[in-house]
Amino acid sequence: IADLAELDPEIAGHLDAELDRQRDGLEMIASENHTAAAVMQAQGSVLTNKYAEGYPGRRYYGGCEHVDAVETLAIERVKDLFGAEYANVQPHSGAQANASVMHALIRPGDTVLGLNLAHGGHLTHGMKINFSGRLYNIVAYGVDDSSFEVDMDEVARLARENSPKLIVAGWSAYPRQLDFARFREIADEVGAYLMVDMAHFAGLVATGLHPSPVPHAHVVTSTTHKTLAGPRGGIILTNDADIAKKVNSAVFPGQQGGPLEHVIAGKAVAFKIAVSEGFRDRQERTLAGARILAERLTAADVAEQGISVLTGGTDVHLVLVDLRDSPLDGQQGEDLLAAVDITINRNSVPFDPRPPMVTSGLRIGTPALATRGFGEEAFREVADIIAETLKAGAAGQQGQQLDGLRERVRALAAAHPLYPNMTANLAP
Ligand code: PLP
Repeated sequence: IADLAELDPEIAGHLDAELDRQRDGLEMIASENHTAAAVMQAQGSVLTNKYAEGYPGRRYYGGCEHVDAVETLAIERVKDLFGAEYANVQPHSGAQANASVMHALIRPGDTVLGLNLAHGGHLTHGMKINFSGRLYNIVAYGVDDSSFEVDMDEVARLARENSPKLIVAGWSAYPRQLDFARFREIADEVGAYLMVDMAHFAGLVATGLHPSPVPHAHVVTSTTHKTLAGPRGGIILTNDADIAKKVNSAVFPGQQGGPLEHVIAGKAVAFKIAVSEGFRDRQERTLAGARILAERLTAADVAEQGISVLTGGTDVHLVLVDLRDSPLDGQQGEDLLAAVDITINRNSVPFDPRPPMVTSGLRIGTPALATRGFGEEAFREVADIIAETLKAGAAGQQGQQLDGLRERVRALAAAHPLYPNMTANLAP
């Protein structure tokens, strides 16, 4: 059997180039991370070959004794990690975890109350052309137009008026914590299920640095690849035996066929890493980095260019830069940072006057850099580079200034080596 580089030099070349891109630049997309080499080894393993429809001990295929052991470890580890009684580790992605919960608990045409996509919600929380928006009657809550935080009185009012069957709490772009207890009170009052989608902040929850939704929600979904730093995938947790049963049959055979046991092995490895002291330290540095970034991007020299930070700060792993009062738009901000080798994404801010392809916001996250070993001093340097880049762009003076800033990025990257001694295809 030929080695990848021999068999397919084109693909191997792109893998090498991507490894270089990740090594040389700074990854600050809030939903990304650098997973452990051990997670990638598990994912690149022979489990790729195995069909295992069903659940451990109840499969529709033979030869499942080893994948049963792997999946059972993943389930037990994630239950311990989050203090949940039941877990399903099979969803191929966060989107499929959410689809499965809706499939399990509600019927097409039922009303779902979720956070407006334009205010930080996710596609699967009710976007019009997503399955959620097409199958269910979506009512969206938003953030307050002065505090930019979710207004729980508004959530309660909309719940009373619309009697949703499901309330979704969770976000893709929101810099504060949600009040899960209040969400549950509202759900109970109107007879709705509460689903918390903790995809973004699961790593913070796992380490006790963010309140856990598990005691409050009927069901909790998450991705495993964001702050949790595992392989790309989804999970579903609950403390309710009846919901667990419905969720299991909604995942398989409701939404999926054979589980990706190689990814489930990667999830199990990630859950083991997540209980370590080093992982907690990493999540602490993630939070510290985001706070440092928010402080730098609210300083007077930045504010002079009409640049600010939504809600004035952050409680989590990301900062939302508000460019509504700046001549710089989201697309230009993303391009400027790309020019200094910092990867982020532009993002609409609530009440954004610019179109969604342009936007007036930037979403900047710290998980991947924390994984790379960045501490407070390095994050101060990153924050300064970002501030200087955006200021230069807003003042229309990019030019040679960007070259110097890119040099500073390269120096930070070199001081925090990523996957030392590894080749892109994991060959020894
Ligand atoms: N839920 C939230 C809150 C997300 O932010 C995301 C991804 O960005 C998802 C679900 C979907 O995850 P995936 O991309 O794995 O389908």
